[in-house]
Amino acid sequence: MEDYPRDQSEFERRFATEGACRDYLARLRWAEGFACPRCAGRDVWKTRRGLLVCRGCGYHISVTAGTIFQDTRKPLLLWFRAAWALTSQKTGASALAVQRILGLGSYETAWTWLHKLRRAMVTPGRERLQGQVEVDETFVGAPEEGRHGRRMIHKTLVVVAAEKDGKGIGRIRMRRVPDGSAKSLHPFVKESIEPESTLHTDDWQGYAGLEGYRRKVRQIAHSGKTASELMPRVHRVVSLLKRWLMGTHHGAISHEHLDYYLDEFTFRFNRRTSLSRGKLFYRLMQNAVRMSPAPYRCMTKGLRGRKKAKHNL
Ligand SMILES: [Zn+2]
Repeated sequence: MEDYPRDQSEFERRFATEGACRDYLARLRWAEGFACPRCAGRDVWKTRRGLLVCRGCGYHISVTAGTIFQDTRKPLLLWFRAAWALTSQKTGASALAVQRILGLGSYETAWTWLHKLRRAMVTPGRERLQGQVEVDETFVGAPEEGRHGRRMIHKTLVVVAAEKDGKGIGRIRMRRVPDGSAKSLHPFVKESIEPESTLHTDDWQGYAGLEGYRRKVRQIAHSGKTASELMPRVHRVVSLLKRWLMGTHHGAISHEHLDYYLDEFTFRFNRRTSLSRGKLFYRLMQNAVRMSPAPYRCMTKGLRGRKKAKHNL
């Protein structure tokens, strides 16, 4: 059963103690009931510090071991609040906002937590898009680049796929790619879209030669129409993405980290019809206890101009 807080006050009531947070993670992690990783025993007792001890073999296990919360020195209470801030608001939250909400001393901590949580926004083994799917690429860049015109060197190419759902949009996928070559675009299509689906693309050669798909080529050159008229869904998604990057994050995103934001945008977009924001929180926490921890040093590559060495995560 999907068990999640419906609103802010319910969230605060439910997760008022470390124990309540730990119990929630344990229920998500061992949805079928606890089984000892060493002897498969199902009977445990809990120490005062919240460790689980197997009655069969004495094995000690922490509910956070092997999850994105592993080795954290901060209370789970704070992690839960960060996850709630990220999921309960329609546009998400910036690292600066989360630092303020949680009263964290360090910007890097807030930044790293959000990135860890964003990693958990991709559900392992999620289904690919299917049916009629529009695919196109777009450049995403930082705002100051406008002064000198379109300098591609500072822009990042992102490929976007959007399912048709009648006149509307179904689910989406997106990814940063080095260029528009077949070598870059084909893997994205194969990993994001079910074979036998129909791809709606422009006549760009990077999409040629994809086996197992039907392809409908929209000729922009002689159609008298723009790309956004011919592939309205993908272009609608792109404009929402750009607005969100500029709005919530003020465009202050380095290219190395753009993938995390694309994952967050996709997570939220694909759940935009969800009646309860709490459901997004639930899905995020469910993924978070299934994911391996990412070392800090993997993420801070490119966290420029900020002190990296000192951190207390
Ligand atoms: Zn055991």
